[in-house]
Amino acid sequence: MPSYTAPTRDMQFILHDVLNVSEQDTPGYAELDRDFTSAVLEEAGKISSEVLSPLNPVGDSEGCVLENGVVRTPKGFKAAFDQVREGGWTALDLPEEYGGQNMPYVLGTAVGEMFSGANQAFTMYQGLTHGAASAILAHGSDQQKDTYLPNMFACEWTGTMNLTEPHCGTDLGLMRTKAEPQDDGSFKLTGQKIFISSGEHDMADNIIHLVLAKIPGGPEGIKGVSLFIVPKFLVKEDGSLGDRNGVTCGKIEEKMGIHGNSTCVMNYDGATGWLLGEEHKGMRAMFTMMNEARIGVGMQGLAQAEVAYQNALAYAKDRLQGRAVTGVKNPDGPADPLIVHPDIRRSLMDQKSFIEGARAFMLWGAELIDRSHRGGDADAEGLISLMTPVIKGFLTDQGYDMTVLAQQVYGGHGYIEEWGMSQFTRDARIAMIYEGANGVQALDLVGRKLAQDSGRHVMAFFEMVKTFIKENEGDEALKNDFLDPLKAASKDLQASAMFFMQNGMKNPNAALAGSYDFMHLFGHVCLGLMWARMAKAAHAALEVGTSDEAFYRTKLATGRFYMKRRLPATALHLARIESGAEPVMELDAEAF
Ligand SMILES: Cc1cc2nc3c(=O)[nH]c(=O)nc-3n(C[C@H](O)[C@H](O)[C@H](O)COP(=O)(O)OP(=O)(O)OC[C@H]3O[C@@H](n4cnc5c(N)ncnc54)[C@H](O)[C@@H]3O)c2cc1C
Repeated sequence: MPSYTAPTRDMQFILHDVLNVSEQDTPGYAELDRDFTSAVLEEAGKISSEVLSPLNPVGDSEGCVLENGVVRTPKGFKAAFDQVREGGWTALDLPEEYGGQNMPYVLGTAVGEMFSGANQAFTMYQGLTHGAASAILAHGSDQQKDTYLPNMFACEWTGTMNLTEPHCGTDLGLMRTKAEPQDDGSFKLTGQKIFISSGEHDMADNIIHLVLAKIPGGPEGIKGVSLFIVPKFLVKEDGSLGDRNGVTCGKIEEKMGIHGNSTCVMNYDGATGWLLGEEHKGMRAMFTMMNEARIGVGMQGLAQAEVAYQNALAYAKDRLQGRAVTGVKNPDGPADPLIVHPDIRRSLMDQKSFIEGARAFMLWGAELIDRSHRGGDADAEGLISLMTPVIKGFLTDQGYDMTVLAQQVYGGHGYIEEWGMSQFTRDARIAMIYEGANGVQALDLVGRKLAQDSGRHVMAFFEMVKTFIKENEGDEALKNDFLDPLKAASKDLQASAMFFMQNGMKNPNAALAGSYDFMHLFGHVCLGLMWARMAKAAHAALEVGTSDEAFYRTKLATGRFYMKRRLPATALHLARIESGAEPVMELDAEAF
């Protein structure tokens, strides 16, 4: 049976040694001293390993069941949900006004990684509630906020996001769900949504659906889409629950992974809804939820990689097979443990160096969100907007790959359900697809984000990398191992951006044929930058003296591995990008 241990030590290192959170002037950060963050993370870690992780295989094997219109979640989910609810974890980083704890997003993100790593399917019920509540907070009227937010922050009512329809996923302009205006200011929604995560379940008194639909007579395509609040139970003026609304779950999908999360077909039959935000500006309002969700999905990639790695590492130390080529390491046993073999080491180092770099990237991204939302920093806003598709696409692709590597460490046992490794791979797979498939993330990055505000944000990123290298070039300990490889990788990124600028306008296929490689190239440079920053922090700690020398030396060795073995992938991505559209587009569709 697999287990999960929260990576609290590593999170503390990133928060305090690398990001120096408590020294920043972002509102709320002064309180984030080591003791405080340690207390929160220890508590979240305990729930993750003791409550959520043991339920992960239960959710996988039992799944959700639809009976008489009611979805039954797996055994133990409801009690665990109560426990998470009572701890106030859902609204950790949401404002106090509606019952939140107003802690910075960066801390919520660290906790989110733990919960997701321990049990992704379970955590989605809560994550979607957070996202829906954030959208109501950003776009709702005072009355809507008062009606829904206290119960959503408390997770007494959960939330969903309803975009997808049978004939439209990426291209939401094709949407058919209709919202007819009523005399009392409400709307009647009719249509079908599919693949709705947490759409129906038995863990909350009410479910607040945020639904995209078209008001008849509005503009064609995506410009005619509006967002609506559609509660499962209508809410009376005094806040108590009234009649059942005209929204029902028609079916739950059988799927590859995240079995503990109900993926529902939702039928809207004249359901009563209320406009959230402005008419025909639904995508703008939904993007509040989607941007948050995209970052949360990137985190799922990292979280599944972490839990898979933890178990692969334990197995590699325990399983005896063959002898080390350099001489026997376990003379008392019939064979040496797997971890002596260089190829197993290569796999474990790939996993470890990705995970720790990705965690720093994730928490840095969360810090940018805090700087933007709490501190009103427009540059931070621009940077995180640029990097959202990279966080989502790169971390989920690589996170999935890492779960496969971890499964491979188990040999045949990795393929057998009893060991639990297959669940991590199956659960991680969806993160590459939902919230906009990763190909569409790459399209967003190259087609929109790169040129946003005349390319100001990508230029700011290049400048930031350049400045970091320049400021630290005199440090011999960093130069060869970290700064030189970072410089080379960053040059590859700049060359690819230049290629898009020179060729994208006259031949858009040339840009889009390389967009996926660009997303990965960008991701590698971000992780390279994170490793250089972590190396600087580790050197600093070793220089002043530390009781935890082994931790910092391990950090440096792991970083050197990333810079030598993974970061050079940027050259391959650049070569592919510069090959342009032709190798990709040469064949006619009929020739395939
Ligand atoms: C388990 C699960 C849970 C989900 N949860 C939710 C949810 O809670 N709410 C919700 O609304 N939806 C949800 N979805 C739907 C999910 O977000 C969509 O499946 C996803 O966005 C892709 O849409 P699609 O399946 O229609 O694929 P399509 O849009 O048909 O795309 C198919 C492929 O073509 C590519 N593609 C499409 N257009 C382009 C283009 N212009 N350029 C290049 N490539 C392109 C895509 O990258 C993809 O690989 C969920 C899906 C699943 C499987």
